[in-house]
Amino acid sequence: MTPEGQTLLLDGAAALGLALTPEQVERFAHLLLLLTEASAQMNLTALREERDIVLKHFVDSLTCLRGGWLDGAGPEAAGPVLDLGTGAGFPALPLAIMRPDLPTVPLDATRKKVEFVERTAQALGLARVHPLVGRAETLGRDPEQRGRYGRVVTRAVAALPILAELALPFLREGGLLVAQKGPITPEELEAGTRAAAEVGGEVRAVDPFTLPLTGDARTLVVIEKTGPTPERYPRREGVPNRKPLF
Ligand code: SAM
Repeated sequence: MTPEGQTLLLDGAAALGLALTPEQVERFAHLLLLLTEASAQMNLTALREERDIVLKHFVDSLTCLRGGWLDGAGPEAAGPVLDLGTGAGFPALPLAIMRPDLPTVPLDATRKKVEFVERTAQALGLARVHPLVGRAETLGRDPEQRGRYGRVVTRAVAALPILAELALPFLREGGLLVAQKGPITPEELEAGTRAAAEVGGEVRAVDPFTLPLTGDARTLVVIEKTGPTPERYPRREGVPNRKPLF
């Protein structure tokens, strides 16, 4: 990472109230290198420039720590963190760099992306990151995965009603879906609120903010799992996207 990239990373994190240790900066630099190398070989992420990767992947992922919603996850009783639709490892890898103590499961339907995340987590020494390949609709019905997690984080995966259907089955009761999104319309929020109620959840917080240094609009939506998810959810592969609940 260039000195300019490092300054952007430190300034962006500081704007979020996070002071990075030299070891964390070192791991972000290593992640940047591995991501850039792998992107030259395969279609992993649209971002190629260091500035974009630092701000729009690294700092953007760290905004999932806003509000302390991920606190309390991790211990056996609380359950691990699932990153649903992690792609090239976002937000899972930046979160794991900040919180290497948290058991984190980056999940994606695309095997080559999950393999990249697995290799990268190993190279960075993030021993509590255990990626999973598959569709959320299928894994959300797997007895080993259903109800296993204390938190589900997700960034840039789907509209809120779809996320509610895909994510809530993975959560324990009392667990939280922390969805990082762009600006959210009142219609999407209304539909998401209704979908959450259908699958056993309630919207706990809607936190609009701007991304440090770029000014891009973002929203963190937090949904708590307050009751059981009916057995019929999630519906079979592709249906939540084709026919959202609301
Ligand atoms: N979260 C990453 C990020 O912010 O850079 C990736 C975002 S990318 C736009 C969406 C990812 O979600 C893709 O990698 C896709 O394979 C994955 N995805 C979408 N629907 C999924 C599903 N039902 N089950 C598993 N993965 C899914």
